[in-house]
Amino acid sequence: MGRYIGPVCRLCRREGVKLMLKGDRCESAKCPMERQWRSSPPGMHSWRRSKGSNYGIRLREKQKVKRYYGLYEKQFKRYFERALHAHGNTGETLLHLLERRLDNVVWKLGFAPSHRSARAAIVHGHITVNGRKVDRPSFEVEQGYSIGVRDTETSKKYVMALLGDSPPPVQSWLERDDTKLEGRVIALPTRESVQIPVEEQLIVEMCSR
Ligand code: SF4
Repeated sequence: MGRYIGPVCRLCRREGVKLMLKGDRCESAKCPMERQWRSSPPGMHSWRRSKGSNYGIRLREKQKVKRYYGLYEKQFKRYFERALHAHGNTGETLLHLLERRLDNVVWKLGFAPSHRSARAAIVHGHITVNGRKVDRPSFEVEQGYSIGVRDTETSKKYVMALLGDSPPPVQSWLERDDTKLEGRVIALPTRESVQIPVEEQLIVEMCSR
């Protein structure tokens, strides 16, 4: 199935949580999730629908994570298989792997306003890892890696405009040097690094069938 190209706010309304897919707008009062009459699930008479079956609840949890990280079903299944065969808690490992995706790190460093724009910036070759251009949004960062902006006027202008006068703060596992436009992974992400409410056990129960 192809990537969703419809209105993204609809996805947040469907999942009932802010997925932060639109950059600055997500923090503003324009976000439909901030307005009671727009934050209900999309569709006619949506408020009349029941909470759903056990399957439905688990499905929504999986879709929420997939949509937040912008993944295809096939990609998500690959991550799940890896998490299933790794040591430790499967749900936490899954989230841990997703957090380490380059598009997620670029977004969290403030070099792009959303996961989508981070992906676009990577694919268009604006981002470097350890000084080398990487154009794969799924690239997995390791502890100690440095993420930078390519040394071209266009790339630098683009990122500097985003950072502005008051650059957004970064999470504790990352650090950013605003003058060099460079970020570093100082530790691997933890469960607390995930910014949306997720019950990963429900995803494991659904995908392990
Ligand atoms: Fe739209 Fe962002 Fe609000 Fe989601 S969080 S509804 S993408 S503005």
